[in-house]
Amino acid sequence: MNADPNNPADLATRDLRRVWHPCTQMKDHESLPPIPIRRGSGVWLEDFDGKRYLDAISSWWVNLFGHANPRIAAALADQAATLEHVIFAGFTHEPAVRLAERLTTIVPRGLTRCFFADNGSAAVEVALKMSFHYWRNRGDSRKTRFIALANGYHGETLGALAVGDVDLYKALYRPLLMDVITAPSPDCYRREPGESWEAHSLRKFELMERLLEQHAGEVAAVIVEPLVQCAGGMRMYHPVYLARLREACDRHRVHLIADEIAVGFGRTGTMFACEQAAVTPDFLCLSKGLTGGFLPLSVVMTNDEVYDAFYDEYTALRAFLHSHSYTANPLACRVALATLDIFAEENTIAVNRVKAAHLGRRARELEAHPHVAEVRQCGMIVAVELARIKATREAYPWQERRGRRVHRHALGRGVLLRPIGDVVYFMPPYVVDEAQMDLIVDTAAEGIELATCD
Ligand SMILES: *Cc1c(COP(=O)(O)O)cnc(C)c1O
Repeated sequence: MNADPNNPADLATRDLRRVWHPCTQMKDHESLPPIPIRRGSGVWLEDFDGKRYLDAISSWWVNLFGHANPRIAAALADQAATLEHVIFAGFTHEPAVRLAERLTTIVPRGLTRCFFADNGSAAVEVALKMSFHYWRNRGDSRKTRFIALANGYHGETLGALAVGDVDLYKALYRPLLMDVITAPSPDCYRREPGESWEAHSLRKFELMERLLEQHAGEVAAVIVEPLVQCAGGMRMYHPVYLARLREACDRHRVHLIADEIAVGFGRTGTMFACEQAAVTPDFLCLSKGLTGGFLPLSVVMTNDEVYDAFYDEYTALRAFLHSHSYTANPLACRVALATLDIFAEENTIAVNRVKAAHLGRRARELEAHPHVAEVRQCGMIVAVELARIKATREAYPWQERRGRRVHRHALGRGVLLRPIGDVVYFMPPYVVDEAQMDLIVDTAAEGIELATCD
């Protein structure tokens, strides 16, 4: 009776009675209940006791310029008082048009068309359907399959799950999923001793080339996460792989889908990861950072060639009839525009280079630890991979949940880290400063020590 919403314990109890959380075994909450957060500001989240947590993972990689960023919040409030939403079939609005115009000027050259959706998985579904449908419209109905990378992740809806390859999320649902062709990952964690990232990624590309040779006639597209397989444990590879892949896709008449949902908007050190290989994909999927972490929105960008294949008399039945109720929501588009304004005015990409250098330098101090197998970095993403045996990189049994111990320790110290298995990683909002980066790394170091001492 008389539940007190300002009592944090009470909020957690009420939550556990009625709410089902994502990516969670709810029984885990018996020992570690969900933490009610009252407010956010900059890199900080604050609970009801006034305890603060440094959000070192940008709340699942969405936040770019801090929580409750005043500038983005003001744009949102203004838009909410003007036009909150309008059906996007048969109608349009200024935030969507301006956002589409802006996006086409900052992405790799040639991506001239924006198709909006409302989350990352939906964007992946759109790209897969569009690619398949393009070949249909061009009179090729044999292209019905996709090539994806081992250890990739593209979301949780059935199509996105099918092109992903993280067993934890996928294995159980296999009977429901379309059959995809899986190419070995260029991930450099498993390179031979002494082998360079470039040599390793090139060697892995040979296997992709062979799959393309064998299957090009039945393949619509290859889908990849450029440079970093984030949900797959922040595994990284060399840009040469993307350059070769672009060239091979062209040669074999297969689309290239770049899923930059996680790595886009500066995470890898350039605005988009594809820039580092100087390639333009046929489809570019964006979400997460698109709205600076404020609202769900996604977009699939493509080129004139694809767009033109759908452009015809209605009765030709070539139109792309996919839709979502909240397609191009004006609030989300306006917030995305405010986010892009900050990039432009604050020279974020250049400023981040200095921050990334500091974060990487501090994190590499952990390389000496007897259970740290690797510290790797790609721009503003830094990962520390733990192993039972450092020399052979033999992993800990997953049941030991070592990463979770790091998570618990860090929470106690006021830092939000959420390791993926035994990969402790940092992907902070760009407003992070040096002292805060030091706190993140020092806390992770303590947590790693505690998690590996037995
Ligand atoms: C998070 C993610 C998705 C899915 O986005 P949601 O908005 O969570 O559906 C797809 N691809 C990649 C690479 C992601 O990191």
